[in-house]
Formats: sequence, structure tokens, C-alpha cells
Amino acid sequence: MNDTARLPGHRFLHSPGPTRVPDEVLHAMSRQPMDLADPRLEATIAACESGLKRLVGSPASDVFLYAANGHGAWEAVIANLVAPGQTVLIPGTGHFSESWAVETEALGRRVLRTPWVEGQPIDPAVVEAALREDVGREIVAVLVVHTDTASSLSNDLAALRAAIDRSGHPALFVVDVVASLAAAPFDMDALRANVAIGASQKGLMVPPGLAFVAVDAAAMELSRRNPAPRYYWDWRSRQSPLAYRKFCGTPPQSLLAGMEAALGLIFSEGLDAVHARHRRIAEAVHAAVEAWSEGGALRLFCQVPAARSVSVTTIAVGSGIEPEAMRSVARERFQVALAGGLGPLAGRAFRIGHLGDMNPAMILGCLGGVEAAMTVQMIPFGRGGLERAVARLAA
Ligand SMILES: *Cc1c(COP(=O)(O)O)cnc(C)c1O
Repeated sequence: MNDTARLPGHRFLHSPGPTRVPDEVLHAMSRQPMDLADPRLEATIAACESGLKRLVGSPASDVFLYAANGHGAWEAVIANLVAPGQTVLIPGTGHFSESWAVETEALGRRVLRTPWVEGQPIDPAVVEAALREDVGREIVAVLVVHTDTASSLSNDLAALRAAIDRSGHPALFVVDVVASLAAAPFDMDALRANVAIGASQKGLMVPPGLAFVAVDAAAMELSRRNPAPRYYWDWRSRQSPLAYRKFCGTPPQSLLAGMEAALGLIFSEGLDAVHARHRRIAEAVHAAVEAWSEGGALRLFCQVPAARSVSVTTIAVGSGIEPEAMRSVARERFQVALAGGLGPLAGRAFRIGHLGDMNPAMILGCLGGVEAAMTVQMIPFGRGGLERAVARLAA
């Protein structure tokens, strides 16, 4: 590995975040900072807020942007909605629900978990039962990960909304759409979700470092009544019209400029077209992996076809296969950067990210690079994956 040599040609980034940043976004970020009273800065912030409200489908929500990653937005939700000692319900989806639960407990809040069944999405009936059992109404909110980026499963949010309704429990419905926003459909108002959480570096195609929450009136009201001490994350002070207050200090101007440009790209392509493109590309990946699976050494981790994410695909490998070694070959020799298995899947899986600034030829390049790396590593994979992906894209 030579860190300084220029590698010719395009490097294929297939991590499910950070994702490739479009040239239009890079260019928009390449500008001088402005003083904090400059109306151009105000206009950029306003464009980000209104674009994100439109993207999550909740024009009347409050959007709070943070100079933070997704973990920061998770903490913002806990700090604003839950007092120390209070309880939230986190249905198990894999690594990301568990990470959110661990963070919540570290902040002195209690977490009720429903078990995660490997390869399966959340069972809404289990969530309904957990809420019904809470006769003392101690659960303040249900925190749901829409797409668990480690398991590559997408949960059925409408079914979860219905389960909460059937239980008659007043808990708020908080949804993490970090890995699904601008890839899969999401409609905060139709779902009556109280809070949606996003971050810049996945479907939004912006470099890491800008997270946001969209908050409805009920969640805003609960946060006003929440006595928990907080400062940086506080939605109440961030409701100010002043840029300096909105960000509790200096706004991350370059990232905001990038976000404004990225939202412009998403809306000019059209949200339906963005979603359809992600679905088509994901189906091409699934077709390739199904062919590879015929070699007996690997398989799609998600056992429920309807729950397969359009953002990322987790491929479980059999014993005796080293996914990390294959990833190194893919990255260093073929310029295809894949993601590894996370948490309980470490060393047992690899992942192909296929969200954001992605087109059919790019995913074919990635799949070809994976086949080449698996060939070098002598992994017994079924042939013809690339051909099946081509057939799917050409259909
Ligand atoms: C990536 C991700 C996060 C965390 O984001 P960071 O920016 O890495 O802190 C949270 N939730 C989901 C579903 C994610 O995919």
C-alpha cells in the first residue's frame, strides 16, 4: 500500500455511509466562510430547514441541525424527551438499535429492549405486547431504527405505527431514518411519527458532520416539560431565529452549503425517481448475491425479501471465509471499498452500500470488483452474478 501514489481512475466507495459526494455538493462547499449576520448564510440555513421538512414529509415540524454525527442526534432526542430514570422502548434491529440503547443507558435513562432475531425485521406484535404490559405507562417513547445499516433490514414503519395505536399507549414514536432517508420512502406526517432523525453522510450525499432532527408539536411540548438539564442539544433555545442560537454557536457553514446543494439535486431528480433508482440498484445487487450464494459459501443475511433494504446489502459468509481479507483485496487491488460486519456480525459478513450518488454502471463496477476479489481469495461463489445484475438493470 502506497499512501502517496495517485491511483488512476475512479475509486468505488460502497460503504453505506459515508457515501460518495456529488461534484455539485463538493463545489458548493468550496467557499469562504461568512460573518454570522450575512443574509446569505441565513438563506442557506432556511433552505436546509425547508428542504429537510419536505424530505421527511412534515412541513409543520421544527428542524434542528447539529454540527454532529448521527450519534449526536440520538443524544439530542434522549436529552430533550427523556428525563434521567425514565424509560424508552427500543425494539431490536441489530447493531444500531443496540448502540442507541447503550448510549441511552449511558445517559442514565432506562431501556426496555425487544429481542432481535437475526435476519428478521421487528415483529410489530412484540412491540404491541411490550406496550400493553406497561400498565404504569412508564415508557416515554418507542425508538425505532428504520433501516439497520448493519443487518441491512428495513422495518415496516406503518405496521409499527399501527401496533402502537392498537396498544392504546401514549408513547411517542421516534424514527431513525439516518440510513434510509432519500433512498426509501418515508412520510413522517402520514406515519404520525413524532421525531425523525437524519445525518448528512448517507442518502443525503454530504460529507459526515451534520445531523438533524425533525420534531412535531407533541414532541416539542414534551421537551418543554422535561426537567432534564441540558444545554447544547436543547430544542427550546434552538428555536431562536438567530443563526448563532439555532446552532448553539457557529454554524457548520460548509456542510450547510453542501446540504443545500444536495437537497437541490434530490428534488430536481424528483423524490419518486430517487426512490425508484435505489430500488432498481438494490434489486441488481440482490440478484448478484443470489447467484453468488449458489456456491454455498455466502448468502443474503436478510431472510425476509420484503424487508431487504434499498440502501445496503449485508452478505453473511460461511466459516473458513475471511471477509476482512477479501475487503482488503477489493479495496487495495480493485479500488472497491466495501463495509465489514458490525457488532455480532463482525468477521461473519461484509456489506455493499448502494445508496446516494449511485448509478447502474457504478454498481456493476462494484459487483465486478467484488467478484474479482472473491476470485483472488478463492472464495467458492456461484458464477454469473454480474450477468444477473445486468439482466435486472436492463429489464
Ligand atoms: C450511520 C447510522 C447512525 C449513526 O451515525 P453516525 O454518523 O455514524 O454517528 C445511526 N443510525 C443509523 C441507522 C445509521 O445507519
